[in-house]
Amino acid sequence: MPWFYTVVDANFTPPSGIQYEILEQVYIPNYNLLLEAEAFRITGNPLNNLCDGGTDYRLPNPCDPNDPNCMDSGGGGTGGGGVNTNRPQGAIRVFDINLMDARPLRRAMVVAKNFLKIETVYTDDAGRFTCTKNFNRVTITIKFKNNHAQIKGLRGARLWQLFFPVEANLGRLRGELNNIDRTIFRNDEVRSRGMRHWVAATVHNNVLEFSDMANPDELFLPNNQIKIFISPGASAASAPMFVQRGPVIPEIHKLYFFRKFIANLSLGNFALYYYSWLPSHLSRLVDIVFGYNKVLELLDSDDISETIFHELVHAAHYAKVGGDWWHNFVNSELIEGANNDGTDWDTYGHGNTERSPIIALGESWAGI
Ligand SMILES: [Zn+2]
Repeated sequence: MPWFYTVVDANFTPPSGIQYEILEQVYIPNYNLLLEAEAFRITGNPLNNLCDGGTDYRLPNPCDPNDPNCMDSGGGGTGGGGVNTNRPQGAIRVFDINLMDARPLRRAMVVAKNFLKIETVYTDDAGRFTCTKNFNRVTITIKFKNNHAQIKGLRGARLWQLFFPVEANLGRLRGELNNIDRTIFRNDEVRSRGMRHWVAATVHNNVLEFSDMANPDELFLPNNQIKIFISPGASAASAPMFVQRGPVIPEIHKLYFFRKFIANLSLGNFALYYYSWLPSHLSRLVDIVFGYNKVLELLDSDDISETIFHELVHAAHYAKVGGDWWHNFVNSELIEGANNDGTDWDTYGHGNTERSPIIALGESWAGI
């Protein structure tokens, strides 16, 4: 891992065990943007859009004090008409191919930042988010995580992505920041970044939809954040609940699990080292895996929901029966899968072994 640089709030506590170094203490006003503008100027990033094109905030062209973009209008853009265009807000949606409609991306993390300032908020059930800090330029990133779940992804051999939620960067924005409106559409290329964002957004919403429908029937997901991994390199799905249970995947089944659920492909020389490293670490990183390496006809919004709901019922079942039962269930499927690798009996087996009863029970439960 290389060093990562960031700005954090003064009361931020680093996670234990993380090596860190404080480079400088800085004071950054949340609302007055003059200091921020000066920081941009002296680092060679002048704000060109201030006050009618002036590049130096100290020498603005005479501007209308009622123009909320004018730095001289007081309060860093809050003057005049009362609409604060420096405060990022807007709505994020995900396109539903079956409904042919853009649906709100619910309760997803939105990070607004530039190199001096950061704010984290969440979308509401209408997909709307509102920052409290002012920015004169900002990068907005959607992170597919909340208290319930975290959606992880992987493209190519970028294995470090397994540690973080999928992110969709909306780009570096400036000007009017108070009316950001984005919809995440499906991309036709399975291995594209756009497809990863769309699958992650769809799965993210699925978790909330599942809870809305299942909780009245007293079917609850585990309390701990579920780690859901989406892969363009595989086409199967499963709910081993590794993170919830602790790293308990048997050594002999790791490669089978990797090939079937993570990446059934040659990753190239670069990744050969990781090919042996990753299966050992996967068990600490994923609860549910979903491979979306499918033809587009089998990859619409309902196709994803159907599979994810199946896996979430597994997760709710796990929350009821606990780790020992789940250990036997998952191991039974891994053994049958490895024994019948490459045949029609892969994963569930022929149904006539000592492992068959627990597989039949677990899968019929998730089949409801
Ligand atoms: Zn299943």
